[in-house]
Amino acid sequence: MIKFSDLGLSPKVMKAVADAGYDTPTPIQAEAIPHALEGRDVLGIAQTGTGKTAGFTLPMIHKLARGRARARMPRSLVLAPTRELAAQVAENFVQYAKYVKLDMALLIGGVSFKEQDRLIDRGVDVLIATPGRLLDHFERGKLLLTGIEIMVVDEADRMLDMGFIPDIERIFKLTPFTRQTLFFSATMAPEITRITQEFLQNPQRVEVARQATTAENITQKVVCFKAENRKVEAKQKRELLRTIIDSEGDKLTNGIIFCNRKVDVDIVMKSLKKHGHSVGAIHGDLDQRYRMEVLAGFKNNDITLLVASDVAARGLDIPAVSHVFNFDVPIHAEDYVHRIGRTGRAGRKGWAFMLCLPHEIKHLDKIEELVKQPVPRLEMDSFTTSKPERNEHPKKKRVPNRPKIVTEVKNVEPIAKAEVLVETAVKNGIPSENTTKTEVSVEPNTKHKTQRKSNPKEQDNKVKGLGDHIPAFLMR
Ligand code: AMP
Repeated sequence: MIKFSDLGLSPKVMKAVADAGYDTPTPIQAEAIPHALEGRDVLGIAQTGTGKTAGFTLPMIHKLARGRARARMPRSLVLAPTRELAAQVAENFVQYAKYVKLDMALLIGGVSFKEQDRLIDRGVDVLIATPGRLLDHFERGKLLLTGIEIMVVDEADRMLDMGFIPDIERIFKLTPFTRQTLFFSATMAPEITRITQEFLQNPQRVEVARQATTAENITQKVVCFKAENRKVEAKQKRELLRTIIDSEGDKLTNGIIFCNRKVDVDIVMKSLKKHGHSVGAIHGDLDQRYRMEVLAGFKNNDITLLVASDVAARGLDIPAVSHVFNFDVPIHAEDYVHRIGRTGRAGRKGWAFMLCLPHEIKHLDKIEELVKQPVPRLEMDSFTTSKPERNEHPKKKRVPNRPKIVTEVKNVEPIAKAEVLVETAVKNGIPSENTTKTEVSVEPNTKHKTQRKSNPKEQDNKVKGLGDHIPAFLMR
């Protein structure tokens, strides 16, 4: 078996890896790191959870350890589709570059330009950005990309979903032809293939098996039901969700409820709250500070249930949960695998329930095709009957013997001031003590300011865009 020590990384990088407790590289790391160290372009086809972030941060740190950054001319650039993913990459740099002096800046929306400008002016080795914010800085004349030695595009398929491909192409053209490119995508849509053919030079293709199967330790169930009529469909879905939640009893320690549409995230959250559950919601249109509070609450168990948009399943370091509820059948079959992968981590048991209305069966079929097995049906008498009994008034419908879980609703500590300490990765020697902290202000309302462009298809209520992980250092 390949060890980290076989990959050719410098002792300082190795020490940080050892501190993180890793001695065996993941397959994507084992394959990508040696090629990246050689200076080759890498096309990594891997999804989140494969260790791909360290797959590019480790060789970057190794290579950037020599040399110095010049003012306004970053030496490397990592593009991530969402601010949370960008922040997560930044957290990786902080972790793995703790014995190497590297200056880093994180350019994401929701944070004031002033502080970001100051960091860029000083010169940075690693610039981590969302495409929109990067171009904003560029257009303001504050940034030159002609010194980029290494450029990383992370989660290119999400960039495509979010309409960022033109921005990515533009950014590629602003960087020197001589740069090394490390490009990661979970899938290779034709548009992504086109970009890689245009901008990568003789890349080493590194592919890790797609996680198309679902873990055996996850008990999966789908409840297919037909509502009494279209009008009460959503209401009955919520009732069914509560019934399942309640009947899970002590097995349910915490759970994520995924909805396909942001509007449903809000409604489901309010409904659960009304019924006495400890619950928070998270999706791209919610204020950044609110999302941070909710995530913090969920992470420290103040909040038991998190209602989330789809993107929460992607790439974000949300703690393992006992239960995943698919309030809607995900439209993209792969999202099902991502969603339920939030439970049953590290060999623990997990439960994944899904609610399916007749119009969602086509999506369920696609999921079953992808995971190559049927999702076991759960019959729930009061719901799976297609027609109500004669004289039965919908309002009077009650589920018999529904056990109740009493959940404590605790308030999440509000963030006292509109300032967050962002730990910049100006690190030298010993970790935390030498960390420079830079105050940046968070715009009080980041609503609708999240991204420059979006796919026209996503202009409606379909969930898009923002990830949900807020790294610890942003929370301090
Ligand atoms: P990523 O796919 O980069 O989002 O990484 C997924 C998770 O795997 C992160 O929580 C990492 O800390 C963890 N990880 C990265 N590399 C390794 C490794 N070599 N061994 C074990 N876990 C790792």
